[in-house]
Amino acid sequence: MNVQPSRSNLAKSDPENDAEPARKMVAVAHGDGIGPEIMEASLRVLEAAGARMDVVPIEVGESVYLSGNTSGIGADTWDKIREAGLIYKAPITTPQGGGYKSLNVTLRKSLGLFANVRPCVAYAPVIETLHPDMNVVVVRENEEDLYAGIEHRQTDDVYQCLKLVSRPGCEKIVRYAFEYARVNGRKKVSCFSKDNIMKLTDGLFHKVFDEIAAEYPEIETDHWIIDIGAAMLADRPEVFDVIVTSNLYGDIVSDITSQISGSVGLGPSANIGQHVAMFEAIHGSAPDIAGKDIANPSGLLLAGVMLEHIGQQDVALKVQNAWLKTIEDGIHTPDIHDDEMSTEKVGTQAFADAVIARLGQVPEKLPQANPDGRGGAIEIVPPKPQPVAVKELVGVDVFVHARTSPDDLAKLLRQAEHSVDVKLEMISNRGVKVWPDALPETFCTDHWRCRFMAVPDSGFDAQAVVTLLSVLASSGVDFIKTEHLYTFDGERGYSLGQGQ
Ligand code: NAD
Repeated sequence: MNVQPSRSNLAKSDPENDAEPARKMVAVAHGDGIGPEIMEASLRVLEAAGARMDVVPIEVGESVYLSGNTSGIGADTWDKIREAGLIYKAPITTPQGGGYKSLNVTLRKSLGLFANVRPCVAYAPVIETLHPDMNVVVVRENEEDLYAGIEHRQTDDVYQCLKLVSRPGCEKIVRYAFEYARVNGRKKVSCFSKDNIMKLTDGLFHKVFDEIAAEYPEIETDHWIIDIGAAMLADRPEVFDVIVTSNLYGDIVSDITSQISGSVGLGPSANIGQHVAMFEAIHGSAPDIAGKDIANPSGLLLAGVMLEHIGQQDVALKVQNAWLKTIEDGIHTPDIHDDEMSTEKVGTQAFADAVIARLGQVPEKLPQANPDGRGGAIEIVPPKPQPVAVKELVGVDVFVHARTSPDDLAKLLRQAEHSVDVKLEMISNRGVKVWPDALPETFCTDHWRCRFMAVPDSGFDAQAVVTLLSVLASSGVDFIKTEHLYTFDGERGYSLGQGQ
């Protein structure tokens, strides 16, 4: 799996720079459930293949959570991770309830692991799949979008989750996808978004995709609305090569992709940042089969082929080819065992032994790993600084909690027009305009977005917003939040209500 970050991270261990390639420290988390078994199996294979890595064990996950640390990671572990710059992590169990935070999300965000890269390859005819020709890499944005975790309950009826999308975030992930495609000889990058509905947030993602695509004329590109794109992916994955998408869509799409490739037990996943990279299997800690020596270690082992990432391509290729030869020989763990294709049903450790026995061999039916020697460092290009726009406050959306009718609410709100230089322009409920001119069929909750526009040239500013809120509070309006309406260089920075 080739997902190397910047060249600077590689410099210490680049075989061309050093006579004897340096050993590399790797922070290893043995995980929970099946984690310790599959990590032991994977490390045994890597060691037998001659990996030049020094394992630094780190403790994260269930035991840390249950010791009372709700983040699942201890303070001294951060130092070990930052020193190593590489994490090899078995899946962990997040205890249910109790306010425990997702360790994966914490690691990704705290360490700036902005790109989640998930290659999904079919291994037909060795592993049964409806899509024998699929070979798709999903590059998922990992830090923002609806996963910012900013959620609020605002009224009796309504809950909200903020979707945050930044230009630097879009630039980093889209450029990484194009660089990944370039370095690995991939032909096409497809963008998945929902910009027909979310014109500002997903619109930005699509816009940045088009801008950056223009810098890679040799790579074919296309854009899919996420719903039809996901449907097409599930039906004909072979039409895709590299897919780049935002956090939530990427989470869903990458699971679909790994499932239809044959087994979620096979998929590796890399989380890439400027300074640290983390490699793991796609699947979870599978407590239902823990301790039984039946888990498939392949996802974690293929993630361990991160040795490419630290300049040990020789070891990485050896492991990949031995693994391909093992599954080609029909030596399968129970999750991929098939009476027709398999020759032997083996446990976790016996599978690792079989891979070790084949180190140095290559597959005959399946394609060899990276036969054209593609790959190499993927440059992480910092996003371009943006010019500061001329920002003008032109109005304010006041969100109100009330059980009322749109007309009665408008009557109450419009009293403020006598005190502040604003006009109530529109009221919407769950995004649909309900004043003026509501349709009687529109269902309304207790959550109203009330749009006040500034009277032109009235010098409307933050102080005027405060005055407006003060007037509304005096009239008994239960406002629960505001959003300022700005133009940026004269361009509207807010969406219109549906029907406005
Ligand atoms: P899961 O992926 O652990 O298991 C889903 C199903 O797939 C189970 O039937 C399991 O037996 C099977 N399976 C998974 N990996 C397998 C393997 N290597 N070999 C054979 N079969 C395998 O998903 P889940 O049950 O939803 O989650 C269990 C726990 O894992 C939860 O606590 C969850 O929070 C955690 N989890 C952790 C990570 C991570 O650490 N990266 C990711 C996902 C889920």
